[in-house]
Amino acid sequence: PIPVIAIDGPSASGKGTVAQLVADKLGFAYLDSGALYRVVAFAAHQNNIAWDDADAVAKCAKSLQIKFIHDQVLLNGQDISNEIRTELMGKGASQVAVHAPVRAALVDLQHSFLQSPGLVADGRDMGTVIFPSAPLKIFLTASTEIRAERRYKQLLGKNQAANYENILQDLQERDARDQRRASAPLVMAEHAILLETDNLSIADAVNTVLDAFKK
Ligand code: C5P
Repeated sequence: PIPVIAIDGPSASGKGTVAQLVADKLGFAYLDSGALYRVVAFAAHQNNIAWDDADAVAKCAKSLQIKFIHDQVLLNGQDISNEIRTELMGKGASQVAVHAPVRAALVDLQHSFLQSPGLVADGRDMGTVIFPSAPLKIFLTASTEIRAERRYKQLLGKNQAANYENILQDLQERDARDQRRASAPLVMAEHAILLETDNLSIADAVNTVLDAFKK
């Protein structure tokens, strides 16, 4: 079987960065599953569909033509890479991701990323739901305060307005929604390796994952 490295964890834990670097190092494909939920939130918003309307959002999700080309995310041929990275679409993604029919609508698309020589899959339910037989599962996390600080610095770095208290509150709300939802809640998969990154550099986290994979 084609190997999968499943990397799950909460928002702003650094797993996207770590997952991409691991994929680059191994020459593996990379699945950013969060981007898919962001595209769904974006498309629903564009079509005036409320994020809490589970059936309408799921129908919308099934109709989407989503393509990833290098760093670009294309929706029906249009590059929406920047549009989906806003705080609003992050919030929308977290809301549409609560609905079981929406999650179901994205399963086949996620499986289609599996290709030789391997895949690094980044998200919340990669090891538990989407790729349960992945030979390596990582749960990458950090304290809420550290994650809020990292996001705060990231926004400042991009010259965007940032308020630490708001970011912290937003992260707490997203964590709660991810953990409490009935469908594919964010939990550590069985046999997953826990990586706490409060005191771990990106390079160290990447090396830990690579070492675990080689074993
Ligand atoms: O990782 P990212 O912040 O881009 O994900 C956006 C939102 O999508 C998350 O807050 C989470 O609620 C949801 N998500 C999910 N399952 C995944 C990936 C993301 O529910 N596999």
